[in-house]
Amino acid sequence: MLKVGFVGWRGMVGSVLMDRMHQQNDFSKINAVFFSTSNAGGDAPVINGASSKLLDAYNIDALLEQDCIVTTQGSEYTQKVLPLLKRKGYDGYWLDASSTLRMSDESVIVLDPINRHVIDKALKDGVKVFCGGNCTVSLMMMALNGLFANNLIEWISSMTYQSASGAGANNMRELLAQSGFLYNNVAELLTDSRADILAIDNRVNEILRSKDLPTGYFETSLAGNVIPWVDVALPNGQTKEEWKGASETNKILGFSPDAVKVDGLCVRVGSMRCHSQALTIKLNQKDLSLSEIEKIIASANEWVKVIPNTKEDTLKYLTPVAISGKLDIAIGRIRKLSFGDDYLTVFTVGDQLLWGAAEPLRRMLNILSE
Ligand code: NAP
Repeated sequence: MLKVGFVGWRGMVGSVLMDRMHQQNDFSKINAVFFSTSNAGGDAPVINGASSKLLDAYNIDALLEQDCIVTTQGSEYTQKVLPLLKRKGYDGYWLDASSTLRMSDESVIVLDPINRHVIDKALKDGVKVFCGGNCTVSLMMMALNGLFANNLIEWISSMTYQSASGAGANNMRELLAQSGFLYNNVAELLTDSRADILAIDNRVNEILRSKDLPTGYFETSLAGNVIPWVDVALPNGQTKEEWKGASETNKILGFSPDAVKVDGLCVRVGSMRCHSQALTIKLNQKDLSLSEIEKIIASANEWVKVIPNTKEDTLKYLTPVAISGKLDIAIGRIRKLSFGDDYLTVFTVGDQLLWGAAEPLRRMLNILSE
């Protein structure tokens, strides 16, 4: 059985990965060892009734004993530890949730429902580094799997609505703390049905702009607000999150860097763990009917769910609230734009901790353990 070392298993992505592995009985297929950067010697998670102790995540000799290391610890850890391991001749697999190695020539970005052929070829070629993709990109590709597989896309413009969880656990907590702070400061006015709505609104604005609002992680309010900026700036005016749209999409597909054009605006909104995206898609043909397009999208993989373009279905099935905690990738509001028969618009929602982070890594580990 494959000896697998887990680093970062108690973080947000790591916890979701652990949950999914337990649900799917994946631990019966591997010998799991757990590492920690902060609590070596502490209790490791109990696996199939067996308890063990945590190993030091900087103990290179202990890491060298693993056939595969799965890290959801973050970029800094990868940058520090992988070069040390390689210097000592580590020849095992490295599965990584962080972005550090995604665009490296030595790595493949894993999203097997889309790129199993790329993964299989890489394994044959001796590739050892496999990275989870950017959450927004992976979710978009799962939704548009059918259009990609049939080579129907000329370009995509994406407008994202990204959840707090994409920024980390502390940001999720801050969104709730901000919401609570806001409510507590207007609760009295809200109980008075005769209170002037403009007075309430003025009070809300005062609170949202006050320095007492907790903003340590987002640097501004996310409650009652949207933040049209995700990740760091690039010299061309894009944010790095926006840059990942094209670069990771093409790498996942095994295409040259600019083969499919993807660009747009990435925006943080106040949902908890689902990313939504409004996509404008330029198709490379005009003669496909909407029902043919829906059929292609719906039949591409078992997780994508086409939602009828009605208000009732949209409110019920095409929202972060409806999708959170599920592997479903909802896609709806599908219609041709008035610009021409080759312009399509869709809205899609996916859980960014599942298909956006943990699930592609879990499935890659299964491919390795097979
Ligand atoms: P995280 O929740 O901050 O966890 C990372 C590590 O922080 C943990 O493994 C743990 O390491 C340590 N830690 C310190 N205090 C903790 C606490 N109170 N609770 C839990 N862990 C704590 O990071 P993450 O959001 O899972 O992200 C991990 C990597 O995945 C990053 O590179 C990120 O960019 C990437 N990623 C994230 C997402 C996402 O949606 N968040 C999506 C795709 C990829 P020790 O146990 O060793 O102390």
